[in-house]
Amino acid sequence: MSRLLFIIAIIAVVYWWFKSVRKQPPRQDEPPRAEDMVRCVRCGVHLPKNESFLVGGKYYCSEAHSRDQSGNTD
Ligand SMILES: [Zn+2]
Repeated sequence: MSRLLFIIAIIAVVYWWFKSVRKQPPRQDEPPRAEDMVRCVRCGVHLPKNESFLVGGKYYCSEAHSRDQSGNTD
């Protein structure tokens, strides 16, 4: 009889193990989101949006270009 209990215990452990393994969520291999690229309206260089300077609804590559927008474009 103890042998039967042992077998049941093994089955229970295997069942529990199988269940816990299956329970794990599938690995999320989502590729990193493509960074939004913007273009400096002053010099035309492309750069990530989060590194750009947004002034007056326009993107600039640097603070200098965002400041130097008084119409004096040489
Ligand atoms: Zn620029």
